[in-house]
Amino acid sequence: MEALATFQKELSSPKKIFITTHVKPDADALGSSLGMANYLLKKGHEVTVVTPSDYPSFLNWMKGNEEVLDFTKPEDQKLAIKKLKQADMIFCLDFSVLNRVNELGEMIRESNAYIVNIDHHQDPEEFSNFKFWSTQAAATCELVYDLIVQLGDRELIDKDIAECLYAGIMTDTGGFRHPNTTKNVHLVVAELIDLGANVSQIANWIYDSNSVNRLKFIGFAITRRLVVREDLHTAYFVISKKDLKKYQSRTGDTEGLVNYALSLDGIKLAALFSEREDGIKISFRSSTEVAVNKFAASYFNGGGHKNAAGGKSAQSLKDTVELFEKLVEESQAELFHSESITAD
Ligand code: 5GP
Ligand code: MN
Repeated sequence: MEALATFQKELSSPKKIFITTHVKPDADALGSSLGMANYLLKKGHEVTVVTPSDYPSFLNWMKGNEEVLDFTKPEDQKLAIKKLKQADMIFCLDFSVLNRVNELGEMIRESNAYIVNIDHHQDPEEFSNFKFWSTQAAATCELVYDLIVQLGDRELIDKDIAECLYAGIMTDTGGFRHPNTTKNVHLVVAELIDLGANVSQIANWIYDSNSVNRLKFIGFAITRRLVVREDLHTAYFVISKKDLKKYQSRTGDTEGLVNYALSLDGIKLAALFSEREDGIKISFRSSTEVAVNKFAASYFNGGGHKNAAGGKSAQSLKDTVELFEKLVEESQAELFHSESITAD
């Protein structure tokens, strides 16, 4: 039987469904999870959404937010493990490698449930029974929309679901600016508006909900923590634990900061190094021709998309940054010469 038909058959009777997404979920991760959850609830399934960590408060408006279990909270973790063990189906959204969900990864690998993977990141691991995956999609939310339509359920997409899905597409295209903003993106978004998504309200919730501390933190980071290496077409931020504490940084407060480095004229590679409890978190962004996901995967135990990727380091902040500069210096030819860049 064709894969989609098998998946559809799985969903034809009420199931216990466990949905999860990548650590530190963004709007696409949470929007695809809650968009899918609200749809599956309407279809009569029992649904639990579990995130491997907390997420920014500017996503709290999404329907179903109150019921999301945060695996880092002991009381939520207990219930999440119980739900995972009971699950008939597990949906993995907006990630394709199981190390993106921390400890949940191994539990998912060992589960006997029917596993569904919906995602748009490159180099997926094989761990699912049904994969709805395309790197051509700008966002997992775009794929969720396409999948619901292919299942013949467009009419079940209500305003709440449309808004969850719109949020992920808006942010993963950088506000409809990145090269992934395809005709299909605009067609899907047009449908979501038709189904009730309030675009200015969503933009306001996501982009215009800064705290004074966050705005001051951004000002501080640009003034004091930005390093520009014009000779390497590279600019990056180095943010210490102390800096984050000083500005009472909350989850999501560093999101978007790296884009200021990329916005500089002549800069093709931008990075943000932030010192967290569990090591150095790195965000990479690049101009169209530079494949930053390959760089992240080769040197910083990470990955992502061609022009937006992430990674981590267990070394000190200083050593990580020194290594980064050295690597960029050494791999300049490979990084900045379009001939050697593999297509998406
Ligand atoms: P961000 O810089 O916003 O945290 O992440 C940028 C993109 O890279 C996102 O699509 C995110 O899912 C992906 N990404 C971030 N960190 C990692 C990582 O450690 N491994 C992989 N495979 N992808 C990552
Ligand atoms: Mn995404």
